[in-house]
Amino acid sequence: MPAVTGKPPVLEVDGLCVDFAVRRKQVRVLSDISFTVGRGETLGIIGESGCGKSMTALALLRMIPSPPGRITAGRVLLDGEDLIQVPEKRIRAIRGGEISMVFQEPMTSLNPVYTIGNQIAETIRRHKGISGAAAWKEAVDLLDMVHIPAPERRVHEYPHHLSGGMRQRVMIAMALACEPTVLLADEPTTALDVTVQAQIFDLLREIQEVHGTCIVLITHDFGAVSEMADRVLVMYAGHKVEEGTLDEISGEPRHPYTQGLLRSMPEIVDDPADIRERLPEIPGTVPDLLRGLEGCPFAPRCPSAMPKCRDRPGYTRLGDHRSVKCWLASEGTGDRVGS
Ligand code: SF4
Repeated sequence: MPAVTGKPPVLEVDGLCVDFAVRRKQVRVLSDISFTVGRGETLGIIGESGCGKSMTALALLRMIPSPPGRITAGRVLLDGEDLIQVPEKRIRAIRGGEISMVFQEPMTSLNPVYTIGNQIAETIRRHKGISGAAAWKEAVDLLDMVHIPAPERRVHEYPHHLSGGMRQRVMIAMALACEPTVLLADEPTTALDVTVQAQIFDLLREIQEVHGTCIVLITHDFGAVSEMADRVLVMYAGHKVEEGTLDEISGEPRHPYTQGLLRSMPEIVDDPADIRERLPEIPGTVPDLLRGLEGCPFAPRCPSAMPKCRDRPGYTRLGDHRSVKCWLASEGTGDRVGS
């Protein structure tokens, strides 16, 4: 699938499957996940907690705890190099080098007993093999780049000296230390208030513009996706259920799960009479993967479920950037492209 930017994909994930061994059973937690991201493009991955978003990010970097987890199929190509097949030494260089990650809660990712300067300089030293003094200078420059005021002073501070927004900027600075090709941002603004969220998104966009970084934004918040993403991938129970450009997904969602997610978003209305007393919710809960999934994984919660849904639908391609995993879509004009 070509990137929206029209540039060839830098990151290509093809048929990625992950299994966990639980109570002597193999449980499939990621099923046939495929997507691409082009240079300077942002892909938003959205879904409820437990749908496999973070697992996808960990699988890209081969960071799934093993055992019990295992990548059982698929390829992850970064500029054509398959990260699933490269030796351990190479994947260690890629982590934090070509692909970096920003996590949700910086306080649990930053080490409280080291200054932020130490922590950023350590990343730079490890990946670039430069001297301590040069790495320290780069750490100051990076803090300046993410708009931390007085970086020469702040570089000596500890994480608890900084606000939540400043800590997240430090995490972004650390992630950018080696000028990554791909930035995986896992709920990067969830713990922040809305004004700081907006500042962090501005910062990510600015960095992307300057460096052409590919961003994979993982979130449960459609508002965050609308702010940042060029394309959107919707996940449910370890499956990709819909993919399209931001306009396609927000303007004409085709999968009943995507439709439910969008309906449950609060909206700003001009007329108070249009205020909904209660936001519609998607009934039920995500399925227990331990029990195994038969047919469409969304069927127990789907308002449009029909007898045919006892069989698992395949992907129906509806356009260059668009595919949906639902029998309703395959009844239209799309082409079915596998399971
Ligand atoms: Fe609903 Fe059936 Fe579509 Fe699944 S395949 S989302 S159950 S209509």
